[in-house]
Amino acid sequence: MTHRFFVDHQIQTDCVTLDGAEAHHMLHVMRGKVGDEVILFDGSGCEFGARVERLSRSSVELAVHQRQAVDRELPLALTLGVALPKGERQKWLIEKAVEVGVTSVVPLMTARGVAQPNGKVLERLRRQVIEASKQCGRNRLMTIADPCRLEVWTAETSSESAFLLHPSGPPLSDRCEMLGGQKAVTLCVGPEGGFTDDEVHAAEAAGWDVVGLGRRILRIETAAITAAVWFTACVSSSK
Ligand code: SAH
Repeated sequence: MTHRFFVDHQIQTDCVTLDGAEAHHMLHVMRGKVGDEVILFDGSGCEFGARVERLSRSSVELAVHQRQAVDRELPLALTLGVALPKGERQKWLIEKAVEVGVTSVVPLMTARGVAQPNGKVLERLRRQVIEASKQCGRNRLMTIADPCRLEVWTAETSSESAFLLHPSGPPLSDRCEMLGGQKAVTLCVGPEGGFTDDEVHAAEAAGWDVVGLGRRILRIETAAITAAVWFTACVSSSK
């Protein structure tokens, strides 16, 4: 695949300048040269054919010669509320969520959660979204919402097609048929210590459906990606 670079503003002219991390990638990782052909995307759903025109120590000028809307999004809006794991597993989760097409991740603060995402962490996660989108070809960025307390989120989010993943819940596969034609699905995955009984009851009281993924206990990131793929398959296959 032609190398992809992210432009952090809407591309509206036929001359674009890359700087910061994207220029670094082009100059020092790809060793870009004048005349190289690349693809630019700006998160608007389009991709742009462009040619390198000029290189300096920290920026790259490109001439845009083609614009095309290329849709690589899922047929549904998939929101994932998750008590983030730590370190490398957090990075893995974000990368895979982008790859499988999750629309939005909401970092949740739960009773037993450990990772409290501050501004720096969110900034890093958003950068990881860009890196993963460059690699997998998405032209819209998965959003990382500001952190939210679980009980606030479950109370305020529409409970239609909203599922809380819990090991003792009835099998998610039982819900597959009722998902036909859904345009939006919301998932909620807990911390390593699991949801407290109070948290599960509060979500149920708010109308959420509690579902399980089988007899084994999965890591946060495994549960999140498995559930995302399951629901996507259910919605797509029953259309
Ligand atoms: N000891 C905890 C396990 C937490 S695993 C407990 O018993 O709840 C971290 C999170 O991943 C869980 O809160 C849940 O949202 C999800 N998860 C892990 N395994 C799961 C399974 N088999 N079914 C549904 N959700 C699961």
